[in-house]
Amino acid sequence: MNTIYKLVKTFKYFHRYASSISNPLTDCTIFSLSSGYGKCGVSVIRVSGPRTKYALQTLVGLRHELKPRYAYLKSIYHPENKELIDKGLVLWFPGPASFTGEDSCEFQVHGSLAVIAAIMDALGKVPGLRPATAGEFTKRAFFGGKLDLTEVEGLADLIHAETEAQRKQAMLQSTGALSRVYDNWRRRLIRCAAHLEAYIDFAEEENIEDDVVMQLNKELRRIITEIREHLNDQRQGEMLRNGVRTAIVGAPNVGKSSFLNMMCQREVAIVTPIAGTTRDIIESTHNFGGYPVIFADTAGLHKQTQDIVELEGMSRAKECLQNADLILLLTDARELLANIANNNGTLKEYQSSYLQQLDLDENALADKRIQLITNKIDLLSTTELQRLTQIDVLRISCKEPNTVELQPFLQHFEGVLRELCGQPSAEHPRITHTRYRQQLERCIEHINIFLDEYAPDIYPDIAISAQKLRNALKCIERITGHVSSNDILDVVFKDFCIGK
Ligand code: GDP
Repeated sequence: MNTIYKLVKTFKYFHRYASSISNPLTDCTIFSLSSGYGKCGVSVIRVSGPRTKYALQTLVGLRHELKPRYAYLKSIYHPENKELIDKGLVLWFPGPASFTGEDSCEFQVHGSLAVIAAIMDALGKVPGLRPATAGEFTKRAFFGGKLDLTEVEGLADLIHAETEAQRKQAMLQSTGALSRVYDNWRRRLIRCAAHLEAYIDFAEEENIEDDVVMQLNKELRRIITEIREHLNDQRQGEMLRNGVRTAIVGAPNVGKSSFLNMMCQREVAIVTPIAGTTRDIIESTHNFGGYPVIFADTAGLHKQTQDIVELEGMSRAKECLQNADLILLLTDARELLANIANNNGTLKEYQSSYLQQLDLDENALADKRIQLITNKIDLLSTTELQRLTQIDVLRISCKEPNTVELQPFLQHFEGVLRELCGQPSAEHPRITHTRYRQQLERCIEHINIFLDEYAPDIYPDIAISAQKLRNALKCIERITGHVSSNDILDVVFKDFCIGK
């Protein structure tokens, strides 16, 4: 097939898709406090839009052009009464080399409530300026082509990051690590679709390259393989972003609440010797070696109760267990030893027989990481402790946490978290949002339908098959925001605060 024709088609495709997002935001200039609200040393107020320079002129006067991205110490005046509000730093970011892509500026002023209120009032008096809504600066950056949706979401995650590993992952995403992966597939799918269209147009002619269909099939199969590899990530990125949901389960009185308190280093749950104290799920989020963990203390799981409150607690505990990423199965060390000795069994058998009697849904525990832990080792004799050591099970005492056993346990636990969350890296950025996963799965489905229909010897209606390819492309573009609906944008931007 004529190579130039293929190139022209490809260009037209890129052009069509590149121009498919238009900026629905109006031409007005927005302003907002971008640093936290409250008394502090320095506060940052941002302005973005076409009248930014005019706002600067009005508040600080511009006898000379400001050098872009340089800090100037300036006196800031109110435009109506000409009163001096404060002295602070002023930075000028002419578009398109700014965060939003528009002309923007920043006022770095003393962080008192009165100074902030006066500057906000002064900016409000400048014609053509209005306060920004939540996430509006980032929305402008998105519509201005500065960020794609994955970078926007990375930025939101960076703002909300609470642990070091979360920060790393969000930082990579906000600087385009995922965007590059998806854009690569997008470009290749566009090329495939363009070549197919060129092929349709040239079908009647004689100068068709024989291998064009084969090349297309090969490339699409390569893309499927790459997407599948990306999907096969054990949800590491999502777990790191959302926190590892960790259910603490076991029989009543084995020390589940004590364990939660020990791990969180505060009295989160009530501890008593009375069985059945915990009825509801008690959750507590904790930063563990840089990994976020959402511990959930649950009601003791056992069979002998008619108490309706306890039964409800057990039902919630089972639900929590089924939704968890990690299950910590706590046992009483004496009970474990007795059980293994009496039944001449192994740890694995003990664990399975305990879980079996819980009548959980089938497959509820499939692919779940279950960690057996024995508690109350302080109650064991030296001989019993030796026997337990031979069994090679994680050993702790929540009552006397300072035993030598605690450190190896904590190290092991951190290792489990590292395995579950993985290490964020630029080479293999992870899926962090369920919506990416859903769109990628759909993308594969569409490509597969296309490949099934489009076997060269079947001769289907190629034009109809080509639509499947465009559907696959749209799935990727919904992730990056090259095609977007208000529904998606509302979800993405809901995590932003005013000033971001
Ligand atoms: P849960 O019902 O599984 O949540 O257990 P709790 O944490 O409420 O503890 C039940 C009882 O066991 C309380 O009296 C705790 O003080 C006690 N306990 C918990 N952990 C230990 C431990 O490591 N050693 C000893 N000796 N007692 C413990």
